Amino acid sequence: MPTIMRALVFHGPDQLAIDEVPIPRAGVNQAVVKVSLTTICGTDVHISREEWPVSKGRILGHEAVGTIHEIGPGVEGFEIGQRVLIPAITPCGSCFYCLSGQWAQCSGHHDKWVPGGGWRLGNSINGCQADYVLVPYAQANLAPVPKSLSDRQVVLLADIASTGFSASEKAGVSLGDTVAVFAQGPIGLCATIGARLKGAGLVIAVDSIHARLKMALRLGADVALHFESMDVVAEIMRITGGRGVDVAIEALGTSGTFENGLKVIRPGGTLSSLGIYSHDLTIRPSDYDGGLGDQTIVNTLCPGGRQRMTTLMRLVENRRIDLTPLLTHEFNLSQIVEAYDLFSEQRDGVLKVAITT
Ligand SMILES: [Zn+2]
Ligand SMILES: [Zn+2]
Repeated sequence: MPTIMRALVFHGPDQLAIDEVPIPRAGVNQAVVKVSLTTICGTDVHISREEWPVSKGRILGHEAVGTIHEIGPGVEGFEIGQRVLIPAITPCGSCFYCLSGQWAQCSGHHDKWVPGGGWRLGNSINGCQADYVLVPYAQANLAPVPKSLSDRQVVLLADIASTGFSASEKAGVSLGDTVAVFAQGPIGLCATIGARLKGAGLVIAVDSIHARLKMALRLGADVALHFESMDVVAEIMRITGGRGVDVAIEALGTSGTFENGLKVIRPGGTLSSLGIYSHDLTIRPSDYDGGLGDQTIVNTLCPGGRQRMTTLMRLVENRRIDLTPLLTHEFNLSQIVEAYDLFSEQRDGVLKVAITT
């Protein structure tokens, strides 16, 4: 039995390295999964630049498929060698937030809530950009993958698809609604797919990169607006006959996209925010109908846990969605530092990178 594995370790700002570290062992209610496919998230890039704090020595990564290698005491109904999808957010299933239905807000066994607390892998504990990963609260988080599905077909459900789809779910998009999605990065593209899935009658995609707009059209947008070539707010108002959209989705995390989202929603409409903001947001009376517009602003952190993953895999299995076009590049785990460079600099039309072990 091997005891040493490769892992991508954060050593400080812009200091990522593949190190050899011990393979984790499963404790109570934990499992160790042998990773077969993982990927890099925009959040990992923020961590690598020290824009989101994690401890030095932390193994990064929070999206993975693999096979169960070790099952700890208290985890029932799984087998060694079984293929599983691991959610980015790993709720405990028993705290105040989990039992109130807000899985992503899980505080675990701590009374104190911290923002993004349900996100543990590659954040508060070691992550999955490694040959093996320790899965906490394994009973609530190991999601068996149907045999008919490949690793590549399901890996993006762990984070970006779950997050992207949640924007329209949280906003309560109704059949025929008009939805504008601001930014078409990996999460925005999933938000575009999600709007279509929820039955939107018109999906307007906004971005400043032509290749991403082209991908948005391929994945279900009806209209693609190039942010730098036009006044997108005016164009959206024109398309909607001056009324505005039913739902605007913010998928970038900047004050500009947030404010534009607010500007284009109709009275009674909803701004559904997926971004993580590090700057102040401004709400101007003119963009907010002076507070008289019956508008709603909602935000969502990636829904996680086993049931969410199982539900999303059903959409793939029955061919409602295909996320594989988003995996534009492939690297082996040994070359993951190169993959970070490519991904963080958005070179070569990269959307998501498949990292194999
Ligand atoms: Zn992520
Ligand atoms: Zn919990």
